[in-house]
Amino acid sequence: MDKKKKNEKLEILRHSASHLLAHALMELYPNTILTLGPATKNGFFYDFLPENNLGESDLEKIAAKMLEIANRDLEITQQEITKKEALELYKDNPFKIELIEGIKDKTVGLSRQGDFYDLCKGGHVKSTGALKHFKLTNLSGAYWRADKKNQALQRINGVAFATAKELRLHENRVEEAKKYDHRRIGKQLDLFSFHEEGAGFPFFHPNGKKVLNILTSFLRKKLEKNGYQEIQTPIMLSDELWKRSGHYDHYKENMYFSTIDDKSYAIKPMNCPGSILTYKTRPHSFRELPLKFSEFGLVHRHELSGVLHGLFRVRAFTQDDAHIYCTPEQIEQEILNLVKNVETILSRFDFADVKLTLSTRPDDAMGDVKLWDKAEQALENALKKTNLPYCINEGDGAFYGPKIDFIIQDSMDREWQCSTIQLDFFQPENFDLTYVASGGEKKRPVMIHRVLYGSLERFFGILIEHYKGKFPFWLAPTQIKVLTITDNQNDYATKVGQILQEHGLRVIVDQSSEQISAKIKTAQLQQIPWMLILGAKEQENNTITLRPREGKQEFGLTVEQLLKKANLLLQDS
Ligand SMILES: [Zn+2]
Ligand SMILES: [Zn+2]
Repeated sequence: MDKKKKNEKLEILRHSASHLLAHALMELYPNTILTLGPATKNGFFYDFLPENNLGESDLEKIAAKMLEIANRDLEITQQEITKKEALELYKDNPFKIELIEGIKDKTVGLSRQGDFYDLCKGGHVKSTGALKHFKLTNLSGAYWRADKKNQALQRINGVAFATAKELRLHENRVEEAKKYDHRRIGKQLDLFSFHEEGAGFPFFHPNGKKVLNILTSFLRKKLEKNGYQEIQTPIMLSDELWKRSGHYDHYKENMYFSTIDDKSYAIKPMNCPGSILTYKTRPHSFRELPLKFSEFGLVHRHELSGVLHGLFRVRAFTQDDAHIYCTPEQIEQEILNLVKNVETILSRFDFADVKLTLSTRPDDAMGDVKLWDKAEQALENALKKTNLPYCINEGDGAFYGPKIDFIIQDSMDREWQCSTIQLDFFQPENFDLTYVASGGEKKRPVMIHRVLYGSLERFFGILIEHYKGKFPFWLAPTQIKVLTITDNQNDYATKVGQILQEHGLRVIVDQSSEQISAKIKTAQLQQIPWMLILGAKEQENNTITLRPREGKQEFGLTVEQLLKKANLLLQDS
């Protein structure tokens, strides 16, 4: 079964599980007023108004009741009833009445299992017997229609899978993810912190900043090779610019504002307008195209405090942004270059899988339909040439152009979307961007926005969890720790450390008076890829014992042999 079909089946199962939860609630607490219960990413929830508030401790009883109903193996049937009948059925439930009144058709759907019924347009498993592999995860508060002004409700969340094995695998993954939460590892490895004085604004410590710098320089080298020119544009720009770019109208709620000389300014939530102003400073010949401006741009976006989540959801982050100005004819080649570029860079990070999705013209698209068709064709042609798996999300593109997203799969089988390539027909028009064509006439370029890591901060967070804190040699903030067995080796250790440092390696020499076993323990906790153990024998023979984080200890290495080994690991970084 392909993944899409499997996901559809799972969604049906999870949605059915929400009815099962509602059914159990009604049997246990007949005065509960039900509202809605959809499927979610890994499971389902149901929102309800309880007679008496439920607590976490009630979940066990509810789950047991659900299992009991599942074991009854009740057939789930679907019927259409008139709105009048539905209103009669739900005469004591103001939420369902509101839902029924909101339905445009003359009839409404009703699903039944045993003597339980629920308002629903259908799409269920055949019987409750298929719903045995679930778990209730937590109880939380909710509001009717997610609006704080409305009635406060309770919500029970759960996960559901088709088999016991899948449920167990999911639970293992959740446990693993908790164990390797980047916020926890960030503290352990002294990478970053958050402070009350700036909620959502990360502080990077020397170790964390080191990794960010490596990520940046790795990318910068690749960009230079691929003809990008790096620019830097201001963090604050006047309101007028954001009004013209459309951000003010569409994104104002997420922007921060300030005033300079009585004039209103906004802190940039995106880098595009800065790139556009740079492009417009002089005329461009067709010979210059494609013109590629890259920028590591710090953007600020307001997020509600409740959704802030370590480095995954912050209020300030650095986008590894680029804007490519090209002719419509160059789209295909540029997209192909970009996809290859992204793939090469992502391949350095040991992700299990990289997939692509192409999102095409939505209903509210702006611009010439012919240009859209041509561009979508060019994008698809480019994707075919890459030989990477991709799927098409019909109608899911932005109103100003189609886009390609990259989905990566980490070491814990979780999917992340980081890189995006977005075509834009709107801003070139909006900002009257032109280039001089071969005949001397002015023409409109196409703009391609692309991010690779996406947000450097978020990508760092993903890498921390993906590697479980064990950064590969090329990324580790400290690559090598030199450990002496006694104080007699201190001079030798300093010398070895110096040579390695001169060769660009990140080295710490541990000359503390701790026992060697304690020194090793510390280095292990710091997840240092290489420990060099130096004792009397090593000093005498001018050699090194290498104790790598993974794998076997190696004795009698010379410094040259060690450097050679290190260089192998550092190739292409
Ligand atoms: Zn349903
Ligand atoms: Zn952009």
